Amino acid sequence: ATPTAVMVATGVGANNGVLIKGGDALERAQMVKYVIFDKTGTLTQGKASVTTAKTFTGMQRGEFLRLVASAEASSEHPLAQAIVEYARHFHFFDDSSASNGWLFDVSDFIALPGKGVQCLIDGKPILVGNRKLMAESGIDISDEVENFVVELEESARTGVLVAYDGIVIGVLGISDPLKREASVVIEGLQKMGVRPVMVTGDNRRTARAVAKEVGIQDVRAEVMPAGKADVVQSFQKDGSIVAMVGDGINDSPALAAADVGMAIGAGTDIAIEAADYVLMRNNLEDVITAIDLSRKTFSRIR
Ligand code: ADP
Ligand code: MG
Repeated sequence: ATPTAVMVATGVGANNGVLIKGGDALERAQMVKYVIFDKTGTLTQGKASVTTAKTFTGMQRGEFLRLVASAEASSEHPLAQAIVEYARHFHFFDDSSASNGWLFDVSDFIALPGKGVQCLIDGKPILVGNRKLMAESGIDISDEVENFVVELEESARTGVLVAYDGIVIGVLGISDPLKREASVVIEGLQKMGVRPVMVTGDNRRTARAVAKEVGIQDVRAEVMPAGKADVVQSFQKDGSIVAMVGDGINDSPALAAADVGMAIGAGTDIAIEAADYVLMRNNLEDVITAIDLSRKTFSRIR
């Protein structure tokens, strides 16, 4: 392709909200064999909402939700935001006299990436997160709790466990719907001979249920934040050209490691910086647009 062709293609991309950072990135996209998608915020809308909140020790729901929201209030994780919003709604409908002071005082807050959060409320430890977090803190999960979590996961929801003072007091079920175009795009890629893969920090069962809905067979779940780049590299081992599509801070090392990093325009600045492409419309169809554009621009010299 001539420099003019590259310039024209870059302009066509820009008109479609696909920002391409340089001719090399444009050229590599035609050869992509695998497209690895982050789950949350990339395949899904990233708009998590609580669908279920169940307590296990006879604690009142209002009290339970206040505790959980207090623990999650300092977290920026989408799950935390969903929980705080749900608890706030519940609280205001439950008690109209409530004001800003509805949360408990929290101390010693720590966010544990890929696992959850922990802090102290009323001098007692509270843990909000996944099984890994509970296991590492020696919290026992009863069959009743485990069965409930499995049920949530099989319906593509994320189960968030809550332990207070060493005991699981409740579980929240959180759902994050797929983007409307997601499954059409996956099918389109497969027709183009490109293999889609999903990577996520979420648990295996939820990941598989979401992947099944969207039509992806190859799933890498329970990947810790630092591990996404390793997943990219594992697909590059045989010389395959790999694209990574992601939105989060967690995704930026993987976006940088990929031959073609594509950041969702609504994603975090760090992800956008690490990527070769920015999909400004936040529409996954632009993954196909990007590959198509590269194929059309470079087909003449192949
Ligand atoms: P993803 O790759 O899907 O963006 P993360 O690595 O951010 O996932 O998180 C992985 C898992 O860790 C979540 O699915 C959840 O179970 C747990 N987790 C992380 N942060 C929180 C939090 N603030 N509250 C509850 N659970 C959390
Ligand atoms: Mg994400």
